Amino acid sequence: PTVDEIISKAKKANRKILTEFESKELLEVIDIPIPKQVLVPAKEGEKAVLNACKNTGFPIVMKLMSDKIVHKSDSGAVKLNISDNESAKQAYDELMKIDCDNDPLKAISIQEMAPKPITEIIVGSLQDPQFGATVMFGIGGVLVEIMKDVSFRIAPISEFDADEMIHEIKGFKILDGYRGNDKADLESLKKLLIKIADLAYKHEEISEMDLNPIFIYKDGLKAVDARIILK
Ligand code: ADP
Ligand code: MG
Repeated sequence: PTVDEIISKAKKANRKILTEFESKELLEVIDIPIPKQVLVPAKEGEKAVLNACKNTGFPIVMKLMSDKIVHKSDSGAVKLNISDNESAKQAYDELMKIDCDNDPLKAISIQEMAPKPITEIIVGSLQDPQFGATVMFGIGGVLVEIMKDVSFRIAPISEFDADEMIHEIKGFKILDGYRGNDKADLESLKKLLIKIADLAYKHEEISEMDLNPIFIYKDGLKAVDARIILK
């Protein structure tokens, strides 16, 4: 599908918040790397889910997708590091016990378990009433939550802007190989910031994006969770 097709499909169904699965599908269209993912509607049952797990290949992550669930971890809707069929069965049982108001669209997202990153980062966008599309960047965890260590720019952004956004946060050292750690792939990060800014700038109907977290590596990165909200 194209970006417009994903957006109009959700709009037609009167849905403003894309699920994680749909949000990442959209990111994939603009060549932002995501972990391999498969969606199995809950009504297809255990067999279909376990089959999809086997086809994806362990270790995997299983998550419950529903409009009724916003913070998945808080609801127990994220099952990490599932390494075999037996644990997959157990994870599926636990996910099906979560209450989501009999949501008929309830589905299980089965995804590749992404390797441990150098650090988790966060990228977002907003439509500001005064400035229009804006893009945000920060290092995941306490640096964003408690220290509010983030940078902002008005979209679209140049490569120079993206580079400044990355370097101006206080946590930059975490990306720059402190204490003998690997240096994060800043070229891929710059490209991602430019793409997200462009997407927000060209699609006014995307009111908010939240890529939280993105795993960044020595080579490349992967968006492991995403939420896109439409106007
Ligand atoms: P929430 O809705 O609670 O933000 P997430 O999808 O972000 O749920 O999952 C919670 C955490 O689990 C993430 O911050 C990340 O550390 C880890 N995680 C999620 N998906 C994956 C994945 N595919 N591979 C590895 N780790 C993951
Ligand atoms: Mg998240």
